[in-house]
Amino acid sequence: MSGFPIQTYHNFRSSVVPAGKVLIGGNNPVVVQSMTTTRTIDTKATVRQIIQLADAGCEMVRMAVQNKKEARNLENIKNELLKKNYDLPLVADVHFNPDVAVIAARFVEKVRINPGNFIKGNPSKKEYNHDEYGEELKKTEEKLIPLIEICRSNNTAVRIGVNHGSLSNRILVRYGNTPEGMVESAMEFIHIFREYGFELLDLSLKASNVRIMTEANKLMVERMIKEGFYYPMHLGVTEAGAGIDGRIKSAAGIGHLLMLGIGDTIRVSLTEDPVEEIPVAQKLVELYGRKKSPEINTGAIVLRKIREYAENEKLKSPYNVSAGLSEVADFSLEKNYVWHRGKKITGFEKSAFPVKEISEKDIVITRLDYDDDQESVRLRAAAEFAFLQDIYPADGICLENRQASADANAQLSLDILQALGLRFNKAEFIACPSCGRTNFDIQEHLKRVKEKTAQLKGLKIAVMGCIVNGPGEMAGADYGYVGSGRGKINLYKRTSLVRKNIDEASAVEALTDLIRENGDWPE
Ligand code: SF4
Repeated sequence: MSGFPIQTYHNFRSSVVPAGKVLIGGNNPVVVQSMTTTRTIDTKATVRQIIQLADAGCEMVRMAVQNKKEARNLENIKNELLKKNYDLPLVADVHFNPDVAVIAARFVEKVRINPGNFIKGNPSKKEYNHDEYGEELKKTEEKLIPLIEICRSNNTAVRIGVNHGSLSNRILVRYGNTPEGMVESAMEFIHIFREYGFELLDLSLKASNVRIMTEANKLMVERMIKEGFYYPMHLGVTEAGAGIDGRIKSAAGIGHLLMLGIGDTIRVSLTEDPVEEIPVAQKLVELYGRKKSPEINTGAIVLRKIREYAENEKLKSPYNVSAGLSEVADFSLEKNYVWHRGKKITGFEKSAFPVKEISEKDIVITRLDYDDDQESVRLRAAAEFAFLQDIYPADGICLENRQASADANAQLSLDILQALGLRFNKAEFIACPSCGRTNFDIQEHLKRVKEKTAQLKGLKIAVMGCIVNGPGEMAGADYGYVGSGRGKINLYKRTSLVRKNIDEASAVEALTDLIRENGDWPE
Protein backbone atom coordinates (compact mmCIF):
# COMPACT_ATOMS: atom_id res chain seq x y z
CA MET A 1 0.00 0.00 0.00
CA SER A 2 1.40 3.38 -0.89
CA GLY A 3 0.20 6.90 -1.42
CA PHE A 4 -1.60 7.28 1.91
CA PRO A 5 -4.13 10.09 1.81
CA ILE A 6 -2.75 11.57 4.99
CA GLN A 7 -0.68 14.45 6.15
CA THR A 8 2.98 13.49 6.44
CA TYR A 9 5.88 15.80 7.11
CA HIS A 10 8.40 14.63 4.50
CA ASN A 11 7.95 17.60 2.20
CA PHE A 12 7.78 20.13 4.99
CA ARG A 13 10.98 18.81 6.47
CA SER A 14 13.04 18.81 3.28
CA SER A 15 11.91 22.33 2.47
CA VAL A 16 13.01 23.84 5.78
CA VAL A 17 15.94 21.82 7.07
CA PRO A 18 19.23 23.29 5.97
CA ALA A 19 21.74 20.64 4.99
CA GLY A 20 24.30 20.04 7.68
CA LYS A 21 22.10 21.26 10.48
CA VAL A 22 20.36 17.97 11.08
CA LEU A 23 23.21 15.57 10.85
CA ILE A 24 25.14 16.35 13.93
CA GLY A 25 27.08 13.18 13.25
CA GLY A 26 26.54 10.21 11.00
CA ASN A 27 26.15 9.87 7.28
CA ASN A 28 22.75 8.26 7.19
CA PRO A 29 19.51 10.10 6.67
CA VAL A 30 18.47 9.12 10.17
CA VAL A 31 21.24 8.84 12.75
CA VAL A 32 21.42 5.87 15.14
CA GLN A 33 22.25 6.75 18.73
CA SER A 34 22.80 4.85 21.93
CA MET A 35 23.88 5.51 25.49
CA THR A 36 26.62 4.08 27.66
CA THR A 37 25.83 2.22 30.87
CA THR A 38 29.28 2.74 32.41
CA ARG A 39 30.22 5.42 34.92
CA THR A 40 31.51 8.40 32.99
CA ILE A 41 34.31 8.84 35.52
CA ASP A 42 35.63 5.43 34.44
CA THR A 43 37.49 6.43 31.29
CA LYS A 44 38.65 2.95 30.35
CA ALA A 45 35.26 1.26 30.65
CA THR A 46 33.42 4.12 28.95
CA VAL A 47 35.85 4.29 26.03
CA ARG A 48 35.64 0.51 25.64
CA GLN A 49 31.85 0.61 25.51
CA ILE A 50 31.75 3.54 23.08
CA ILE A 51 34.09 1.63 20.76
CA GLN A 52 31.87 -1.45 20.98
CA LEU A 53 28.86 0.68 20.11
CA ALA A 54 30.63 2.42 17.23
CA ASP A 55 31.84 -0.91 15.83
CA ALA A 56 28.25 -2.16 15.96
CA GLY A 57 27.13 0.81 13.82
CA CYS A 58 26.16 3.41 16.42
CA GLU A 59 26.77 6.91 15.04
CA MET A 60 26.41 9.06 18.15
CA VAL A 61 26.81 8.11 21.82
CA ARG A 62 25.34 9.74 24.91
CA MET A 63 26.76 9.46 28.42
CA ALA A 64 25.21 10.27 31.80
CA VAL A 65 27.22 13.09 33.36
CA GLN A 66 26.36 13.34 37.03
CA ASN A 67 28.79 15.90 38.42
CA LYS A 68 31.60 18.29 37.56
CA LYS A 69 34.25 15.60 37.93
CA GLU A 70 32.53 13.45 35.30
CA ALA A 71 32.02 16.51 33.10
CA ARG A 72 35.75 17.22 33.19
CA ASN A 73 36.51 13.57 32.45
CA LEU A 74 34.75 13.91 29.10
CA GLU A 75 37.97 15.49 27.83
CA ASN A 76 39.90 12.29 28.64
CA ILE A 77 37.24 10.13 27.04
CA LYS A 78 37.23 12.25 23.88
CA ASN A 79 41.04 12.20 23.66
CA GLU A 80 41.30 8.46 24.19
CA LEU A 81 38.72 7.87 21.46
CA LEU A 82 40.51 10.19 19.04
CA LYS A 83 43.79 8.40 19.72
CA LYS A 84 42.06 5.20 18.62
CA ASN A 85 40.59 6.93 15.55
CA TYR A 86 37.01 7.04 16.80
CA ASP A 87 35.62 10.49 16.17
CA LEU A 88 31.91 9.89 16.46
CA PRO A 89 29.98 12.72 18.14
CA LEU A 90 29.49 12.46 21.90
CA VAL A 91 26.52 13.75 23.87
CA ALA A 92 26.58 14.63 27.57
CA ASP A 93 23.33 13.88 29.38
CA VAL A 94 22.89 16.36 32.22
CA HIS A 95 20.10 16.64 34.77
CA PHE A 96 19.65 19.02 37.70
CA ASN A 97 22.91 20.90 37.36
CA PRO A 98 23.41 23.69 34.79
CA ASP A 99 27.05 24.13 35.89
CA VAL A 100 27.80 20.54 34.86
CA ALA A 101 26.28 21.25 31.42
CA VAL A 102 28.56 24.29 31.04
CA ILE A 103 31.70 22.23 31.71
CA ALA A 104 30.56 19.33 29.50
CA ALA A 105 29.86 21.68 26.58
CA ARG A 106 33.61 22.29 26.19
CA PHE A 107 34.40 18.66 25.42
CA VAL A 108 31.51 17.07 23.52
CA GLU A 109 29.50 17.76 20.38
CA LYS A 110 26.16 18.02 22.13
CA VAL A 111 24.74 18.55 25.60
CA ARG A 112 21.30 17.18 26.48
CA ILE A 113 19.42 19.13 29.10
CA ASN A 114 16.01 18.29 30.53
CA PRO A 115 13.71 21.33 30.83
CA GLY A 116 11.87 19.50 33.61
CA ASN A 117 14.80 19.58 35.99
CA PHE A 118 17.21 22.17 34.57
CA ILE A 119 16.53 24.51 37.49
CA LYS A 120 15.12 23.65 40.88
CA GLY A 121 11.46 24.67 40.93
CA ASN A 122 9.02 24.30 43.78
CA PRO A 123 7.52 20.80 43.40
CA SER A 124 4.71 21.35 45.90
CA LYS A 125 3.33 24.59 44.45
CA LYS A 126 -0.28 24.13 43.36
CA GLU A 127 -0.82 27.38 41.47
CA TYR A 128 1.25 29.91 39.56
CA ASN A 129 0.07 33.42 38.87
CA HIS A 130 1.40 35.27 35.84
CA ASP A 131 4.31 36.85 37.75
CA GLU A 132 5.36 33.67 39.53
CA TYR A 133 5.38 31.75 36.26
CA GLY A 134 7.43 34.52 34.65
CA GLU A 135 9.90 34.53 37.55
CA GLU A 136 10.68 30.83 37.11
CA LEU A 137 11.22 31.36 33.43
CA LYS A 138 13.51 34.30 34.16
CA LYS A 139 15.58 32.08 36.49
CA THR A 140 15.76 29.46 33.76
CA GLU A 141 16.95 32.07 31.28
CA GLU A 142 19.67 33.29 33.68
CA LYS A 143 20.95 29.74 34.10
CA LEU A 144 20.83 29.11 30.34
CA ILE A 145 22.88 32.17 29.36
CA PRO A 146 26.30 30.72 30.36
CA LEU A 147 25.43 27.47 28.57
CA ILE A 148 24.38 29.33 25.43
CA GLU A 149 27.64 31.31 25.45
CA ILE A 150 29.91 28.31 25.89
CA CYS A 151 27.98 26.30 23.30
CA ARG A 152 28.18 29.16 20.82
CA SER A 153 31.92 29.55 21.21
CA ASN A 154 32.55 25.78 21.00
CA ASN A 155 29.96 25.08 18.30
CA THR A 156 28.32 22.61 20.68
CA ALA A 157 24.75 21.61 19.97
CA VAL A 158 22.07 21.44 22.64
CA ARG A 159 19.33 18.89 22.84
CA ILE A 160 16.22 20.05 24.63
CA GLY A 161 15.20 16.65 25.93
CA VAL A 162 11.69 16.64 27.36
CA ASN A 163 10.52 13.59 29.24
CA HIS A 164 6.86 12.91 29.99
CA GLY A 165 7.85 11.54 33.41
CA SER A 166 9.84 14.57 34.52
CA LEU A 167 8.01 17.70 33.44
CA SER A 168 8.57 20.77 35.60
CA ASN A 169 5.97 21.53 38.25
CA ARG A 170 5.00 24.79 36.55
CA ILE A 171 4.22 22.89 33.33
CA LEU A 172 2.26 20.23 35.23
CA VAL A 173 0.21 22.88 37.00
CA ARG A 174 -0.54 24.86 33.87
CA TYR A 175 -0.81 22.20 31.14
CA GLY A 176 -1.01 18.87 32.96
CA ASN A 177 0.98 15.73 32.35
CA THR A 178 0.02 15.72 28.69
CA PRO A 179 1.55 15.75 25.20
CA GLU A 180 0.57 19.45 25.06
CA GLY A 181 2.53 20.03 28.29
CA MET A 182 5.55 18.31 26.75
CA VAL A 183 5.40 20.62 23.74
CA GLU A 184 5.05 23.71 25.94
CA SER A 185 8.02 22.57 28.00
CA ALA A 186 10.17 22.39 24.85
CA MET A 187 8.79 25.70 23.56
CA GLU A 188 9.77 27.60 26.73
CA PHE A 189 13.39 26.60 26.19
CA ILE A 190 13.33 27.07 22.41
CA HIS A 191 12.10 30.64 22.85
CA ILE A 192 14.96 31.45 25.23
CA PHE A 193 17.60 29.95 22.91
CA ARG A 194 16.11 31.79 19.93
CA GLU A 195 16.02 35.04 21.82
CA TYR A 196 19.80 34.74 22.21
CA GLY A 197 20.24 33.81 18.55
CA PHE A 198 21.29 30.22 19.29
CA GLU A 199 20.04 27.76 16.68
CA LEU A 200 22.12 24.62 17.05
CA LEU A 201 19.31 22.77 18.77
CA ASP A 202 17.57 19.48 18.51
CA LEU A 203 14.52 18.27 20.40
CA SER A 204 13.27 15.09 21.96
CA LEU A 205 9.90 14.40 23.53
CA LYS A 206 10.01 10.96 25.07
CA ALA A 207 7.56 8.92 27.06
CA SER A 208 7.27 5.28 28.03
CA ASN A 209 3.68 5.34 26.81
CA VAL A 210 3.93 4.88 23.04
CA ARG A 211 0.81 6.83 22.17
CA ILE A 212 1.78 9.80 24.35
CA MET A 213 5.22 9.80 22.74
CA THR A 214 3.88 9.76 19.17
CA GLU A 215 1.22 12.34 19.93
CA ALA A 216 3.74 14.70 21.57
CA ASN A 217 6.13 14.48 18.60
CA LYS A 218 3.37 15.10 16.07
CA LEU A 219 2.15 18.10 18.07
CA MET A 220 5.69 19.41 18.30
CA VAL A 221 6.15 19.32 14.53
CA GLU A 222 2.75 20.95 13.99
CA ARG A 223 3.75 23.66 16.44
CA MET A 224 7.03 24.27 14.64
CA ILE A 225 5.19 24.55 11.32
CA LYS A 226 2.92 27.13 12.92
CA GLU A 227 5.81 29.09 14.40
CA GLY A 228 7.80 28.94 11.16
CA PHE A 229 10.93 27.12 12.28
CA TYR A 230 12.20 23.58 12.49
CA TYR A 231 14.69 21.81 14.73
CA PRO A 232 15.79 18.21 14.23
CA MET A 233 13.87 15.65 16.22
CA HIS A 234 15.44 12.84 18.22
CA LEU A 235 13.04 9.93 18.79
CA GLY A 236 12.80 7.32 21.49
CA VAL A 237 10.39 5.43 23.69
CA THR A 238 11.79 5.60 27.21
CA GLU A 239 11.80 2.71 29.64
CA ALA A 240 10.68 0.34 26.87
CA GLY A 241 12.09 -2.64 28.80
CA ALA A 242 13.83 -5.67 27.34
CA GLY A 243 13.37 -8.51 24.88
CA ILE A 244 10.44 -8.76 22.52
CA ASP A 245 8.24 -6.27 24.37
CA GLY A 246 10.98 -3.61 24.41
CA ARG A 247 11.51 -4.01 20.67
CA ILE A 248 7.80 -3.91 19.87
CA LYS A 249 7.23 -0.76 21.93
CA SER A 250 10.22 0.99 20.36
CA ALA A 251 9.13 0.05 16.83
CA ALA A 252 5.54 1.15 17.47
CA GLY A 253 6.70 4.61 18.56
CA ILE A 254 9.79 5.28 16.44
CA GLY A 255 8.70 3.41 13.29
CA HIS A 256 5.32 5.13 13.23
CA LEU A 257 6.91 8.59 13.40
CA LEU A 258 9.60 7.77 10.82
CA MET A 259 6.81 6.75 8.43
CA LEU A 260 5.30 10.17 8.91
CA GLY A 261 8.61 11.83 8.06
CA ILE A 262 9.41 12.78 11.66
CA GLY A 263 12.78 11.89 13.16
CA ASP A 264 16.40 12.79 12.50
CA THR A 265 18.15 10.74 15.15
CA ILE A 266 16.76 7.72 16.98
CA ARG A 267 17.56 5.66 20.00
CA VAL A 268 16.01 2.31 20.82
CA SER A 269 16.37 2.04 24.61
CA LEU A 270 16.48 -1.50 25.88
CA THR A 271 17.30 -2.86 29.33
CA GLU A 272 20.04 -4.95 27.75
CA ASP A 273 23.64 -4.47 26.69
CA PRO A 274 23.41 -1.20 24.69
CA VAL A 275 25.08 -2.91 21.72
CA GLU A 276 21.82 -4.87 21.31
CA GLU A 277 19.99 -1.61 20.60
CA ILE A 278 21.92 -0.94 17.42
CA PRO A 279 20.58 -3.62 15.01
CA VAL A 280 17.02 -2.77 16.06
CA ALA A 281 17.56 0.93 15.39
CA GLN A 282 19.32 0.18 12.09
CA LYS A 283 16.44 -2.00 10.98
CA LEU A 284 13.94 0.78 11.70
CA VAL A 285 16.05 3.24 9.71
CA GLU A 286 16.36 0.75 6.85
CA LEU A 287 12.59 0.20 6.81
CA TYR A 288 11.25 3.70 7.35
CA GLY A 289 14.01 6.30 7.42
CA ARG A 290 12.98 8.98 4.94
CA LYS A 291 10.81 6.69 2.84
CA LYS A 292 7.86 8.64 1.58
CA SER A 293 5.68 5.69 0.73
CA PRO A 294 6.23 2.75 3.02
CA GLU A 295 5.29 -0.52 1.38
CA ILE A 296 2.68 -2.00 3.66
CA ASN A 297 0.74 -5.02 2.56
CA THR A 298 -2.49 -4.14 4.28
CA GLY A 299 -6.22 -3.78 3.97
CA ALA A 300 -9.34 -4.44 5.98
CA ILE A 301 -11.27 -7.56 6.85
CA VAL A 302 -14.96 -7.06 7.55
CA LEU A 303 -16.53 -9.60 9.88
CA ARG A 304 -20.22 -9.36 9.03
CA LYS A 305 -22.87 -9.13 11.77
CA ILE A 306 -20.60 -10.29 14.51
CA ARG A 307 -20.56 -7.37 16.96
CA GLU A 308 -23.47 -8.63 19.05
CA TYR A 309 -21.91 -12.11 19.26
CA ALA A 310 -18.56 -10.66 20.40
CA GLU A 311 -20.25 -8.54 23.03
CA ASN A 312 -22.37 -11.43 24.33
CA GLU A 313 -19.24 -13.56 24.63
CA LYS A 314 -17.61 -10.66 26.52
CA LEU A 315 -14.68 -10.59 24.12
CA LYS A 316 -12.47 -7.56 24.50
CA SER A 317 -11.99 -5.04 21.74
CA PRO A 318 -9.64 -4.51 19.92
CA TYR A 319 -10.14 -8.06 18.71
CA ASN A 320 -7.35 -10.41 17.83
CA VAL A 321 -8.20 -12.27 14.60
CA SER A 322 -6.12 -15.06 13.15
CA ALA A 323 -5.71 -16.07 9.52
CA GLY A 324 -5.94 -19.82 10.18
CA LEU A 325 -7.06 -21.69 13.28
CA SER A 326 -5.52 -20.45 16.51
CA GLU A 327 -6.11 -21.09 20.19
CA VAL A 328 -4.70 -17.68 21.08
CA ALA A 329 -6.91 -15.45 18.87
CA ASP A 330 -10.48 -14.36 19.58
CA PHE A 331 -11.62 -15.29 16.08
CA SER A 332 -10.03 -17.46 13.40
CA LEU A 333 -10.62 -17.13 9.66
CA GLU A 334 -10.79 -20.50 7.96
CA LYS A 335 -12.51 -21.66 4.76
CA ASN A 336 -14.42 -18.39 4.22
CA TYR A 337 -15.89 -18.44 7.73
CA VAL A 338 -15.19 -16.80 11.05
CA TRP A 339 -14.69 -19.32 13.87
CA HIS A 340 -14.82 -18.92 17.63
CA ARG A 341 -14.00 -21.80 19.99
CA GLY A 342 -14.61 -24.35 17.23
CA LYS A 343 -17.95 -22.78 16.31
CA LYS A 344 -18.73 -21.36 12.85
CA ILE A 345 -20.12 -17.84 13.36
CA THR A 346 -20.41 -15.86 10.14
CA GLY A 347 -18.67 -14.91 6.92
CA PHE A 348 -16.05 -12.25 6.19
CA GLU A 349 -14.85 -10.11 3.30
CA LYS A 350 -11.54 -8.55 2.40
CA SER A 351 -11.58 -4.88 1.50
CA ALA A 352 -9.29 -1.92 0.98
CA PHE A 353 -9.19 1.04 3.37
CA PRO A 354 -11.36 3.08 3.76
CA VAL A 355 -14.09 0.43 4.01
CA LYS A 356 -17.40 1.19 2.34
CA GLU A 357 -20.81 -0.17 3.24
CA ILE A 358 -20.40 -1.30 6.79
CA SER A 359 -23.15 -1.41 9.36
CA GLU A 360 -22.94 -1.07 13.12
CA LYS A 361 -23.31 -4.83 13.36
CA ASP A 362 -20.04 -5.44 11.50
CA ILE A 363 -16.50 -5.37 12.83
CA VAL A 364 -13.62 -3.96 10.77
CA ILE A 365 -10.20 -5.47 11.33
CA THR A 366 -6.83 -4.23 10.05
CA ARG A 367 -5.09 -6.94 8.03
CA LEU A 368 -1.30 -7.08 7.79
CA ASP A 369 0.43 -9.70 5.61
CA TYR A 370 4.11 -10.63 5.73
CA ASP A 371 6.47 -13.26 4.45
CA ASP A 372 9.57 -12.53 6.48
CA ASP A 373 11.53 -13.74 9.52
CA GLN A 374 9.55 -13.25 12.72
CA GLU A 375 12.12 -10.90 14.25
CA SER A 376 11.68 -8.41 11.39
CA VAL A 377 7.92 -8.91 11.37
CA ARG A 378 7.74 -7.92 15.05
CA LEU A 379 9.22 -4.52 14.23
CA ARG A 380 7.32 -4.06 10.98
CA ALA A 381 3.93 -5.10 12.32
CA ALA A 382 4.29 -2.95 15.46
CA ALA A 383 5.27 0.15 13.48
CA GLU A 384 2.74 -0.40 10.68
CA PHE A 385 -0.22 -1.24 12.91
CA ALA A 386 0.52 1.84 15.06
CA PHE A 387 0.67 3.95 11.90
CA LEU A 388 -2.51 2.50 10.37
CA GLN A 389 -4.48 2.63 13.60
CA ASP A 390 -3.82 6.35 13.67
CA ILE A 391 -5.29 6.85 10.19
CA TYR A 392 -7.99 4.19 10.04
CA PRO A 393 -8.85 3.18 13.61
CA ALA A 394 -10.12 -0.39 13.35
CA ASP A 395 -11.78 -2.83 15.76
CA GLY A 396 -8.82 -5.18 15.79
CA ILE A 397 -5.84 -6.74 14.10
CA CYS A 398 -5.33 -9.76 11.86
CA LEU A 399 -1.63 -10.38 11.36
CA GLU A 400 -0.32 -13.11 9.12
CA ASN A 401 3.33 -13.91 8.66
CA ARG A 402 3.61 -16.91 6.38
CA GLN A 403 6.85 -17.91 8.09
CA ALA A 404 5.20 -18.28 11.52
CA SER A 405 2.38 -20.36 13.00
CA ALA A 406 -1.13 -18.98 13.49
CA ASP A 407 -0.61 -19.03 17.26
CA ALA A 408 2.71 -17.15 17.01
CA ASN A 409 1.04 -14.52 14.84
CA ALA A 410 -1.89 -14.19 17.22
CA GLN A 411 0.49 -13.85 20.18
CA LEU A 412 2.39 -11.12 18.34
CA SER A 413 -0.92 -9.32 17.73
CA LEU A 414 -1.63 -9.38 21.47
CA ASP A 415 1.86 -8.04 22.23
CA ILE A 416 1.36 -5.18 19.79
CA LEU A 417 -2.05 -4.29 21.24
CA GLN A 418 -0.47 -4.26 24.70
CA ALA A 419 2.47 -2.11 23.57
CA LEU A 420 -0.01 0.45 22.27
CA GLY A 421 -1.97 0.34 25.52
CA LEU A 422 -5.06 -0.89 23.66
CA ARG A 423 -5.52 -4.23 25.39
CA PHE A 424 -3.80 -5.83 28.40
CA ASN A 425 -2.94 -9.44 28.27
CA LYS A 426 -0.11 -9.67 30.82
CA ALA A 427 1.70 -7.46 33.29
CA GLU A 428 3.38 -4.48 31.70
CA PHE A 429 7.01 -3.78 32.53
CA ILE A 430 8.51 -0.34 32.37
CA ALA A 431 12.29 -0.54 32.70
CA CYS A 432 14.97 2.02 32.06
CA PRO A 433 17.96 1.05 29.92
CA SER A 434 20.26 1.95 32.87
CA CYS A 435 23.17 4.35 32.64
CA GLY A 436 26.14 5.52 34.71
CA ARG A 437 23.73 6.21 37.57
CA THR A 438 22.74 2.55 38.02
CA ASN A 439 24.19 0.72 41.04
CA PHE A 440 22.83 -2.80 40.56
CA ASP A 441 22.48 -5.39 37.83
CA ILE A 442 19.21 -4.09 36.39
CA GLN A 443 19.03 -6.64 33.57
CA GLU A 444 19.18 -9.53 36.02
CA HIS A 445 16.69 -7.90 38.38
CA LEU A 446 14.23 -7.15 35.57
CA LYS A 447 14.44 -10.81 34.57
CA ARG A 448 13.70 -11.95 38.13
CA VAL A 449 10.83 -9.50 38.58
CA LYS A 450 9.33 -10.63 35.26
CA GLU A 451 9.61 -14.31 36.18
CA LYS A 452 7.66 -13.74 39.38
CA THR A 453 5.03 -11.28 38.19
CA ALA A 454 4.46 -11.65 34.41
CA GLN A 455 1.08 -13.33 34.98
CA LEU A 456 -0.37 -10.31 36.83
CA LYS A 457 -2.48 -9.10 33.93
CA GLY A 458 -3.20 -5.38 33.95
CA LEU A 459 -0.50 -4.41 36.48
CA LYS A 460 2.25 -2.00 35.50
CA ILE A 461 5.55 -2.70 37.22
CA ALA A 462 8.56 -0.41 36.85
CA VAL A 463 12.16 -1.49 37.32
CA MET A 464 14.36 1.60 37.33
CA GLY A 465 18.08 2.11 37.70
CA CYS A 466 18.29 5.05 40.08
CA ILE A 467 16.36 7.19 42.54
CA VAL A 468 17.49 10.38 40.80
CA ASN A 469 15.23 9.98 37.79
CA GLY A 470 13.60 6.59 38.31
CA PRO A 471 10.65 7.51 40.55
CA GLY A 472 9.72 10.50 38.38
CA GLU A 473 9.95 8.53 35.17
CA MET A 474 8.04 5.42 36.19
CA ALA A 475 5.07 6.85 34.32
CA GLY A 476 1.98 5.68 36.12
CA ALA A 477 3.36 2.33 37.27
CA ASP A 478 1.40 0.50 39.98
CA TYR A 479 4.60 -0.68 41.65
CA GLY A 480 8.15 0.59 41.37
CA TYR A 481 11.41 -1.31 42.00
CA VAL A 482 14.12 1.32 42.02
CA GLY A 483 17.87 1.12 42.68
CA SER A 484 18.65 3.32 45.70
CA GLY A 485 22.32 2.72 46.43
CA ARG A 486 24.97 0.10 45.80
CA GLY A 487 23.03 -3.21 45.87
CA LYS A 488 19.99 -1.57 47.49
CA ILE A 489 16.41 -1.28 46.24
CA ASN A 490 13.52 1.02 47.14
CA LEU A 491 9.94 -0.11 46.55
CA TYR A 492 7.10 2.19 45.55
CA LYS A 493 3.34 1.78 45.53
CA ARG A 494 2.46 4.15 42.73
CA THR A 495 4.36 7.34 43.61
CA SER A 496 4.73 6.62 47.34
CA LEU A 497 7.97 5.21 48.70
CA VAL A 498 6.94 2.27 50.90
CA ARG A 499 10.14 0.26 51.56
CA LYS A 500 13.61 1.74 51.64
CA ASN A 501 17.10 0.30 51.02
CA ILE A 502 16.17 -3.39 50.86
CA ASP A 503 19.11 -5.67 50.22
CA GLU A 504 19.04 -6.68 46.55
CA ALA A 505 19.03 -10.39 47.43
CA SER A 506 15.58 -10.17 49.02
CA ALA A 507 14.08 -7.32 46.99
CA VAL A 508 12.06 -9.40 44.50
CA GLU A 509 10.41 -11.26 47.36
CA ALA A 510 9.70 -7.98 49.11
CA LEU A 511 8.04 -6.75 45.92
CA THR A 512 5.80 -9.81 45.62
CA ASP A 513 4.89 -9.46 49.33
CA LEU A 514 3.97 -5.83 48.73
CA ILE A 515 1.76 -6.74 45.75
CA ARG A 516 0.02 -9.40 47.89
CA GLU A 517 -0.47 -7.03 50.83
CA ASN A 518 -2.22 -4.63 48.48
CA GLY A 519 -4.59 -7.28 47.17
CA ASP A 520 -3.18 -7.22 43.63
CA TRP A 521 -2.09 -10.86 43.59
CA PRO A 522 -5.01 -13.10 42.66
CA GLU A 523 -4.77 -16.40 44.55
FE1 SF4 B 1 19.85 6.27 34.19
FE2 SF4 B 1 18.28 6.61 36.33
FE3 SF4 B 1 17.33 7.16 33.85
FE4 SF4 B 1 17.75 4.64 34.59
S1 SF4 B 1 16.26 6.06 35.53
S2 SF4 B 1 18.41 5.59 32.64
S3 SF4 B 1 19.55 4.82 35.86
S4 SF4 B 1 18.97 8.21 34.91
